[in-house]
Amino acid sequence: MSALIPIVLATRNAGKTREIQGLLQGFAVEIKNLDDFGPIPLIEEDGATFDENAYKKASLTARYLGLPALADDSGLLVDALGGAPGVLSARYAGPDATDAQRCQKLLEALADTENRKAAFECVLSLAVPTGPALTYEGRCEGVIARVPAGDNGFGYDPIFLYPALNKTFAQLTLAEKGRISHRGKALAELCAEFDRVLIWIRQHMPDAAPIGCMGGQTNG
Ligand code: IMP
Repeated sequence: MSALIPIVLATRNAGKTREIQGLLQGFAVEIKNLDDFGPIPLIEEDGATFDENAYKKASLTARYLGLPALADDSGLLVDALGGAPGVLSARYAGPDATDAQRCQKLLEALADTENRKAAFECVLSLAVPTGPALTYEGRCEGVIARVPAGDNGFGYDPIFLYPALNKTFAQLTLAEKGRISHRGKALAELCAEFDRVLIWIRQHMPDAAPIGCMGGQTNG
């Protein structure tokens, strides 16, 4: 049996890590995240699209650590807000706000709005240290609830109602959310061709040592 291939998740978001680790269980990979390594320079998420941010996080993390890296950039797009908060979902209520404060701000922004349509989108970028990357995308449509419900998940899950189940994402188990979510769909695409992905990683892994990652800030 061949050795497990290490893949670093380019995140410190515990919610994302849990979901991705859960969905990649059983594949010939050893999943780590940034907390398993020393500090690396902060990677600013300044792209205009999920795609740009995902590639930036994956490719720089892969270069810093000398390992294949998988990044998720995702967010919530609300119809009545012209697609906001979108790529700014993590910072919607300011840099230090909590998930609950972000949800509250969104509920207030939609207080007088009948159109509650929204969608989560996710772009996954899997990069090797020399730069090339594979990209996978997923989208899940729903509506913004009137009040938060449920304790599972993270981020906007308590206010994202999935109409077919009449439950918010925070009322679903990890496995239920994984079957329908934006992240679950993007990962399903990756998993569908996992054998070829592992060959691609092996072919593209350089022998060179990682570029320096001494000190500096850690990425959030
Ligand atoms: P980023 O990808 O690090 O820019 O952060 C994405 C942000 O979008 C998260 O911090 C959450 O606020 C939100 N988000 C992304 N995916 C989900 C999800 O599955 N559930 C709830 N919120 C999410």
